[in-house]
Formats: sequence, structure tokens, C-alpha cells
Amino acid sequence: MGKLLIVADPASELPATLELVAAAHSLSNDSDIVAAIAGTTGVAAGDLPVSAVYVAEDERLGEPDSASFDAATDVLTAMVREIAPDVILCSRSDYTTVTAPRIAARLGSAFARDCTAVAHSDDGFMVTRPVYGGNADATYSLHGSAPPVIMIRPGSYDPAAADGTPELKSFDPAPHIRDTRSTLLRTVQEAREGVRLEDAEVVVSGGRGLGGPEPFAQLAELADLLGGAVGASRAACDAGWIDYSHQVGLTGKTVSPKLYLSFGISGASQHMAGCSSSRAIVAVNTDPDASIFKDARFGVVGDWSKVLPALVSALRDVS
Ligand SMILES: Cc1cc2nc3c(=O)[nH]c(=O)nc-3n(C[C@H](O)[C@H](O)[C@H](O)COP(=O)(O)OP(=O)(O)OC[C@H]3O[C@@H](n4cnc5c(N)ncnc54)[C@H](O)[C@@H]3O)c2cc1C
Repeated sequence: MGKLLIVADPASELPATLELVAAAHSLSNDSDIVAAIAGTTGVAAGDLPVSAVYVAEDERLGEPDSASFDAATDVLTAMVREIAPDVILCSRSDYTTVTAPRIAARLGSAFARDCTAVAHSDDGFMVTRPVYGGNADATYSLHGSAPPVIMIRPGSYDPAAADGTPELKSFDPAPHIRDTRSTLLRTVQEAREGVRLEDAEVVVSGGRGLGGPEPFAQLAELADLLGGAVGASRAACDAGWIDYSHQVGLTGKTVSPKLYLSFGISGASQHMAGCSSSRAIVAVNTDPDASIFKDARFGVVGDWSKVLPALVSALRDVS
């Protein structure tokens, strides 16, 4: 096998890119794994365990806005053409959601989004994607002469160790950036404290069973104690108890934490679509027949108002 290319989101944290390295290793141990970064990066490129990192810097790649996404698409496509990999892996983010399908279109490649696993097939690659709201996994085969672009769902692989000493290769982006056709009109900054919901290793979620907005303050304290983030069901968001930016599910965010703690959530398929790839789901619900118990590794049949304060108090004692 030849080269495997990882496209790093310049705004992402290092672990997201290290998960891609792990995905590339799962494909082959003897391939040449290289990384491409278009933009001034938050990723510690010098630590990536790959043979080379191609870095393109230009002020037009600077801010993660729609214009820089245009420029990043131009530059990354040129990088891919120079590197000529067998496959391109990226982690799902705003940046890759905009750039990756456009790169695939320009290369004439197959594009697969939201994949939880990648493997070889006889004549190309196979990817696994959750379907039917996370209730089933589908396997797709990608083939063709151009390298497929595969977007991996964050949290699908354990990050590789950041112990590399790659060769840093400067890539001149200027000849490749075309006139941008999109203009950024407005940026809305999502108010957020602590860890981002999508990146959190622990998510503490609440649903309609909480009965009102007040318990979300306790959930926030629990999330804080566990170094996690607060999620919610759509019913809780629709009720105005918490902002929609916390909604987990089909029409909300997809999370893949190590621990997903849910309080007063029934486990509707549209909710589970956003959290079913969590390592362990722990559910607290008064109804022993609540469907979330089918997905939960541990379940407490009980009232949140007894379990949640007890858990917060126990954690306060040990922290
Ligand atoms: C197209 C579409 C998209 C959707 N997208 C999403 C989405 O992205 N995310 C999402 O979450 N939903 C989504 N939904 C809505 C989804 O179908 C459910 O209606 C929603 O998830 C229910 O939220 P819930 O579990 O909080 O509420 P409920 O279904 O009302 O469940 C509340 C649970 O709390 C339990 N409970 C009650 N009192 C207590 C107590 N004191 N202690 C402990 N437990 C208690 C109950 O037993 C019950 O199981 C979508 C629906 C559609 C049609």
C-alpha cells in the first residue's frame, strides 16, 4: 500500500488528529502516513506520529470562515494532487464538513461522511456508518481510481500517541488559491463554558423527566466535577429549559464520549442517534421499561431528584 493522507482541521485539538492516525494504522502498519494542514494550526504538527506533515500558511487560510473554507478547499485539493495518496481521512468538524465533500468532488472521488470504521475491501475501501437513527450499522464499499475521502466520526478510534518526529514540509498555497466566491456576512459565537459538547469525554444529559429548567444547574455542576459537558433531549430544549446548542440527537449534536450519563430521558431513536456510539451509557429513569435501558450499560430505575444530588455530593467529597 502507498500513502495514507490525514487532513487535519487547523482549529481542532491534537486528539482529533491522533484518532485519524489510529484509523490509518488500522488500515496498514507498513504504509506511509502523511498529514496535510492548510492554515495556521492549533494542532501540534511536530508531535504527529506520521512521516511528514505538509503545512500551508497564508492569511487567506487564517480565520475559519466561509472565505477561508474556499481557500482551504483550493489548497488541500492541490496538496492531495501532489501527495497522491490512496485514501484521505479527516475528522468531522465544521471545517471538514465544508471542505471535504468539495475536495472529493474536485478529485472525482467517493466521499463518505460520519464513518465509525474504515477497512480494506478487495478493490478499495469499506466504511461503516450508523443508519436508521443509530439503530443499525451499514457497510459501504468505496472504489474508483481517485482516492476516497473518508470523514471519521470523532471518538471512533482511540487516539495514537503523540510521539512522532515528522518531517515538516512547507507547501506554497499562493498559486492555488482562486478568487473566493463566498463572503462571510456574520459570525455568531456560541456561548460556552468549559469543554465543547462534541469533544467531551463525559456528557451529562437531561430530558423531559427533569420537569423544569432548575435541575440543569445540578447537571452543570455534575458535568463540571467530571470535566464534561451538558447535553439535553429535544423535549428539554423545546420546553425552553436549556439552549438548543445542547441538544443531542438526529437534529442535534452527535457525541461519542467515554461516558454518557442520562437523567429523565426515554431513549427515543432520534435521541439515541446522537449518542449511541458512546462507550458507556448510564441511564437514570423511573420507568423500568424506558427504551434507554436497552442501550445503557448501567441503569438506575429511580428518580433523578434522589440520584443526581447524591452523585454530585459524593463526587464533591472526593474532588
Ligand atoms: C424528525 C425528528 C427529529 C428529532 N430529533 C431529536 C433529537 O435530535 N434529539 C432528541 O432528543 N429528540 C429528537 N426528537 C424527539 C424524540 O422523538 C423524543 O420526543 C425526545 O427525544 C423525547 O425527549 P425525552 O426523552 O426527554 O422525553 P420523554 O420521551 O417524555 O421521556 C421522559 C423520560 O423521563 C422519565 N422520567 C419522568 N420522571 C422522571 C424522574 N423523576 N426521574 C427520572 N426519570 C423520569 C420518563 O419515564 C421518561 O422515560 C426528534 C423527533 C423527530 C420526529
